[in-house]
Amino acid sequence: MWEPGELGRLRTVAVERSEVLVVGGGNAGISLAARLLRDGFDEVTLVAPQPVHRYKPLLNYVGAGEASMSELERPMADVVPDGCRWIRDAVVAVDPAAMTVRTRGGRTLHASTLVLCPGLVEDWEATPGLQQAYADGWAASTYVPGSTPQVWPRLSALRSGTVVFTVPPEPASCAPTALKPLLMACDSWRRAGVLADLDVVLVLPEATATRLPEADEHLEQTFTRYGVRVLREARIEHVDWDVHALHVRTPAGTRVLEDVAFAHAVPHYRAPRWIADAGLAADPAPGLVDVDPETLRSRRHGSIWAIGDAADLATRPSGGALRKQVDVLAKNLAAVRKGKRLTRYDGYTVMPITVTRRKLMLNEVDREGRPSPSVPLIDPFKARRWQWLFDRHGLPQVYWRRILRGKV
Ligand SMILES: Cc1cc2nc3c(=O)[nH]c(=O)nc-3n(C[C@H](O)[C@H](O)[C@H](O)COP(=O)(O)OP(=O)(O)OC[C@H]3O[C@@H](n4cnc5c(N)ncnc54)[C@H](O)[C@@H]3O)c2cc1C
Repeated sequence: MWEPGELGRLRTVAVERSEVLVVGGGNAGISLAARLLRDGFDEVTLVAPQPVHRYKPLLNYVGAGEASMSELERPMADVVPDGCRWIRDAVVAVDPAAMTVRTRGGRTLHASTLVLCPGLVEDWEATPGLQQAYADGWAASTYVPGSTPQVWPRLSALRSGTVVFTVPPEPASCAPTALKPLLMACDSWRRAGVLADLDVVLVLPEATATRLPEADEHLEQTFTRYGVRVLREARIEHVDWDVHALHVRTPAGTRVLEDVAFAHAVPHYRAPRWIADAGLAADPAPGLVDVDPETLRSRRHGSIWAIGDAADLATRPSGGALRKQVDVLAKNLAAVRKGKRLTRYDGYTVMPITVTRRKLMLNEVDREGRPSPSVPLIDPFKARRWQWLFDRHGLPQVYWRRILRGKV
């Protein structure tokens, strides 16, 4: 007979094996697993702890009163592809030399090929006081899904006072899209005739919103049109959540924004610590997986690969970028099997920004910031109504039906 606890100890020593082990069940992990199964890999294991999968781009539309949470959430069990083994657990350590990962539940999983795509985690410690402000309900954002349903009721009720929005410093998930709730709210306040009574402040981590001159030119005109006060190269240092004040560090010194009615303050982000602990990051501070940004292969271990927000790909992370990354990585894993040449990722990414409640600019570029439109010959920096409709209504359908099924 086993003594109590003995069975548990035995479980921790048993090593479970798979050909490809994918860590993370977000956009990257699910679409890659589906694509690999379509391409003929028959042993794909996914480690992902959460019960719910979210289509994150719609969070910004929830924050603008244009979508509901139920439209962007699906049970994880519904999106894990058929034929994929799903281990509902979280990775807590990687041993690259042994090609194993250890999970929170005490399992040891071995893989011939390991793909890391756990995304980013909130770094609440980087902004003291911000988490209390969220708990208090005075701050909320589209980036923190638990708080997102509060955003639009708070914004739409404002008639006067100071309201603050931030774009998170990188690493962050498609950071420029944090402008979507700001600009859709401004359009709404303008239509309601209250915009002039509001002091709308935007805290930008860099000198401009996107680092893309053509896009920035349009955005600067939009900020001016709405009367948005922009604090540049700035970030929130700390928050006095009880008196509703934000301390913002700028090149000219610290500015204190007092009596803020509502703060759409996005937390800072970092990669999960176990990546750097395993020696897989170049810089322990953000701790992103150090990969060749073109082949997506770890620079340190030939059988480890990474895509998505947690990978250091020298381009802006985005769901749109993942369409290309998944394709390149699937081709490269097949190429390694057959001893063929690796395919290269050009750094394609997209930063969709709504400039009004019905117009959106796509901002599709390659790693060098050169235009890279999906629809040939169109200006990717021009705001258009059909692009708004596609981003809001068309893309979610493409996401559930094709992207997550590895068909794009
Ligand atoms: C508010 C918001 C709006 C956005 N808007 C757009 C947009 O309009 N257009 C666009 O292209 N992109 C947009 N993005 C970016 C896009 O959603 C992300 O780039 C994309 O979701 C990244 O996918 P990922 O799989 O790398 O990371 P995630 O989606 O974060 O998924 C990572 C998964 O890994 C799991 N995980 C974490 N730790 C572990 C662990 N230790 N073990 C196992 N699993 C783990 C997590 O639970 C999570 O499910 C937006 C992002 C946000 C937050």
